[in-house]
Amino acid sequence: MRKYVIMGVQGSGKGTQSELLCDDLDLVHISVGDIFRWHVQNHTKLGAQVRRTMNAGELVGDDLVESVVRERLDQHDWNFGFVIDGFPRNGRQAEFFMESYDIDGVIHLELPEDEVRRRVLSRRLCPNCGMDYNLIADRPKEDGRCDICGHQLITREDDTPEALDARLRDYNEKTRPVLELFRRKEFVHDIDARPPAEEVQAKIRAALNLPAYQAHA
Ligand SMILES: [Zn+2]
Repeated sequence: MRKYVIMGVQGSGKGTQSELLCDDLDLVHISVGDIFRWHVQNHTKLGAQVRRTMNAGELVGDDLVESVVRERLDQHDWNFGFVIDGFPRNGRQAEFFMESYDIDGVIHLELPEDEVRRRVLSRRLCPNCGMDYNLIADRPKEDGRCDICGHQLITREDDTPEALDARLRDYNEKTRPVLELFRRKEFVHDIDARPPAEEVQAKIRAALNLPAYQAHA
């Protein structure tokens, strides 16, 4: 059983690295952000609560995050382990998490703030088919149009400079102390998130003593 926490600011590649890690090791990627987005898209009661919070320009409360994670982990579909992303977000949650689950390691993706800004503010989304684009690394063939369905691309409502500033502030205030807490238990592996994704993945695996990535045939 392998249980990892992945941490890093927005745009540091947590999603991509989690997926790569889970792919051949049969781990389950638990993304709190994805769970919330699913609830919003499917108009659940929780989704309405999340949407109200975000529309008010606020961050989803700790209690809500905690209950969502508890509920998700209680499903026990992670026989080989999991990679969790978006949790814990404060010291209290970290204590709860360490007490309840035997964490094997914390992957900390490090990315300087100017690079975070560059990456996040260049993200675009197709509201029609859900395809993600990045004006630096993953440009659409025609400016502002989706390659797949031709729909006009938009910027996610939480990818504005103001929203990003709020998230960075929140990250520095709340998440850094969590990292320090994990650090005292010697769980944290600091990984430079600037190189290409495959290179970052190789470094994560070396740090965690895991076999090299094997893409499924
Ligand atoms: Zn599209």
